[in-house]
Amino acid sequence: MSPTRHPETLAVHAGRRVDPATGAVTPNLTLATTFERAPDGSLPHGFVYSRTDTPNRHALEQALAAMEGGKDAMAFASGQAATAAILQALAPGARVVFPDDIYHGTRHLVKNEFARWGVRGDFVDFTDLAAVERALQAAPTQLVWIETPSNPRLKITDLAAVAMLGRAVGALVVADNTWATSILTQPLALGAHVAMHSSTKYIGGHSDVLGGVLVFGADAPAELVARVRTWQQIGGAVPAPFDCWLLLRSLSTMPVRVRAQSTTAAQLAAWLAEHPKVERVNYPGLPSHPGHAAARRQMASGGAMLSFEVRGGFAAASAVAAKVRLITRATSLGGIESLIEHRKLVEGADSPTPENLLRFSVGLEHVDDLRADLAQALG
Ligand SMILES: *Cc1c(COP(=O)(O)O)cnc(C)c1O
Repeated sequence: MSPTRHPETLAVHAGRRVDPATGAVTPNLTLATTFERAPDGSLPHGFVYSRTDTPNRHALEQALAAMEGGKDAMAFASGQAATAAILQALAPGARVVFPDDIYHGTRHLVKNEFARWGVRGDFVDFTDLAAVERALQAAPTQLVWIETPSNPRLKITDLAAVAMLGRAVGALVVADNTWATSILTQPLALGAHVAMHSSTKYIGGHSDVLGGVLVFGADAPAELVARVRTWQQIGGAVPAPFDCWLLLRSLSTMPVRVRAQSTTAAQLAAWLAEHPKVERVNYPGLPSHPGHAAARRQMASGGAMLSFEVRGGFAAASAVAAKVRLITRATSLGGIESLIEHRKLVEGADSPTPENLLRFSVGLEHVDDLRADLAQALG
């Protein structure tokens, strides 16, 4: 598929073809775990065993690589498995520099699990480029991990600037692009070597499939790509064929979903910012957001995620979360249904998240219905 095609077109056609045997317009679901060899022992269709590769996974990886402008993509059983595959590909004792506001599962993997392998994670405020530069000068760094917008405070990292700093010290640059999606941000074009996604979120889009993906840019080191592929195929944290089938199906509507959800989020963020019970709204699409200028450079819109801080602290935020009716109290994001979450409650005492912060994943419902629900919950 030509990489010059538009995202809407790639989302519908990349990785797909009409089945030559039956004429089926949609992909077949191939559940086989093993594939026949030819009399000479060769594998005429390229598949050997389903941990190594499957037709549905292969199609999904092709589509995701095309969407992100990458050379190669690898699908995993979860976003965390994708993150772990990158960390597993590092040498023992490697140093990784992370933003201080980051998905708590990524923080946990580095601080608690990979620490035992001697991987050292240093957490820095990525909105302060001088601080990033100091951190990179302080000790040799093998990996710079970017996540923008950040979770849950929607801080914006200047992707191009941090990628340049990382590359200048010879580090691998990985961007967790789960929240922005390839529709709003293209990290590989901005200088990242690898884009990572929890495909559980916007790629899946319906809160019914878990998955993760790594997309490698054309200049990602070949040795790294090979080692991560080995972790995928030998480590075996791979998605089932039906998961891949669902993700490819959902990918086709991702461009329209993300745009519609982002439009609603922008309207709700502006309304919340004026609400007397709201102390602060974290949404990069608002001109008052400290990362607004960087967001405008690297995001096609402010996105469909926001968080807001309720006047009155922990109890007041809990009360608002308790009162929503249309919006569902649940973790995760990126689905068609709106979700709200009191992050401090779920992240626990050692989390730096403000006590009164509610994270809001804006779904596909009508903006007026969502606004009415928030109004009665805040009221
Ligand atoms: C959900 C999420 C992850 C982890 O993905 P899983 O699919 O839950 O393993 C990583 N990064 C971000 C930004 C996420 O939102």
